[in-house]
Amino acid sequence: MSRAIDFIFQFQLIAIIAGLLFFIFYSFFEKEKKAAQKALIPFLIIISVFVFHYFYDIPLLFQVISSGLLTIIFVLLIIPFGNNEVKFEIPENKFDERDIMFSRMELKENTEKFNQYYKMNPENKEKDDKFRKEPGLLSQKSKLYNPFLFNAAAASFSTVDLLQPLVETKNHLKNTNDLHASEITDFIKHWALKLGAADIGFTILKPHHLYSYIGRGKDYGKELQLNHKYAIAFTVEMSHDSMQHAPQGTIITESSQQYLNAGTIAVQIAEFIRNTGFDARAHIDANYRVICPAVAMDAGLGTIGRMGLLMTPKQGPRVRIGVVTTNLEVPINKRPIDSSMIHFCEICKKCAVNCPSGSISFDTSKNEKKYKRWLIDHESCFTYWTKVGTDCGRCIAVCPYAHNNNLLHNLVRHFLKINPFNRWIALKLDNFFYNIKPPLVPLKNWMKPNSGERIKEFM
Ligand code: SF4
Ligand code: SF4
Repeated sequence: MSRAIDFIFQFQLIAIIAGLLFFIFYSFFEKEKKAAQKALIPFLIIISVFVFHYFYDIPLLFQVISSGLLTIIFVLLIIPFGNNEVKFEIPENKFDERDIMFSRMELKENTEKFNQYYKMNPENKEKDDKFRKEPGLLSQKSKLYNPFLFNAAAASFSTVDLLQPLVETKNHLKNTNDLHASEITDFIKHWALKLGAADIGFTILKPHHLYSYIGRGKDYGKELQLNHKYAIAFTVEMSHDSMQHAPQGTIITESSQQYLNAGTIAVQIAEFIRNTGFDARAHIDANYRVICPAVAMDAGLGTIGRMGLLMTPKQGPRVRIGVVTTNLEVPINKRPIDSSMIHFCEICKKCAVNCPSGSISFDTSKNEKKYKRWLIDHESCFTYWTKVGTDCGRCIAVCPYAHNNNLLHNLVRHFLKINPFNRWIALKLDNFFYNIKPPLVPLKNWMKPNSGERIKEFM
């Protein structure tokens, strides 16, 4: 009996040592030196216990207690329970695009549009006056202005503008060769990934996916008409390294780059579909007719988390979304929504803790009755953006789901799905290894790090 206990005790110690070694190796590999250093402490303690046991034999009672506790923990890690499905209510009314912050930002004082909007929405005037007093996105007067990163972002946004005429062209090849819709869709699925998409899904286009009125561009104020029945949604990954400097300029450089990548892929797919004889429209930055996260969620790409963004299984919120709507009958193969992410959000709150403008809810359960999801304070978030000049992204950077898409973190993501115990322990470990408030990563020399000094004042 004592030999069996001794064997189990040693086996468990070896398993923990191997796990910690794996973590240390991966942390060095992904340049998380602090996490690797922290893991060295328990690693050295367990190694010492192992060596001590080899030479002096740890008392049997201690072995029984520690092996018993570890066995309970190992068993708990693999038993599935407490994963009740989270349902999102479908909104009764469509959302008016004129209410989004980018549309409100474009309103010029003393114009008809401006007066009309605040006549219809007087409750927004005072809130919007606050961001109008700030220098604005990409402004030279903003607190985190960086000539390199801001101008790079502006260049990407200008390139996105060049794509605008291509979102719904009229002339196409109509070169169908009697292709079947499922063949075309299968090609699109593979091609999109080859073009750089991280994931792709398909859904029937539902009324709540569409804006009620157009809020940007030349058709501002027009009631939205879009007769497509289907939508193709895909994600593109935002670089983990760039996100770590958020809210500094790398975030807007990276997000604009990914708006461009998503826009290019969407335009290519839409043009391809039109060439095969079906109607299609690309939805790209500043020219959306659909609410991308809602479409992406129904296409099975993820769910909407506490910070109000799409949370994907492999990159968390570290993505941008592209959408193409079409009358090509895409086969709908609905993937189940992973409710464990919402259960994790219920206990995590790391984005709320780190949000510099206090825009994210700390509520344990989802706080907006109508949509059954957390809603962020868009006005205070956007006002912070206009103050610092970037789109901040601190919430994305600190999210435990936003770690690199690699074996270590995908293993953790898998365990998070199993039960609330795993989610609780993973949160504690994430806070220990990466900190509840992860330190800001200074800009690299080639990025002109002068804003790295100024940032301390605004966090
Ligand atoms: S930081 Fe935590 S609470 Fe916020 S979205 Fe990510 S997992 Fe959810
Ligand atoms: S982008 Fe920044 S200010 Fe906005 S919610 Fe996220 S952390 Fe808060």
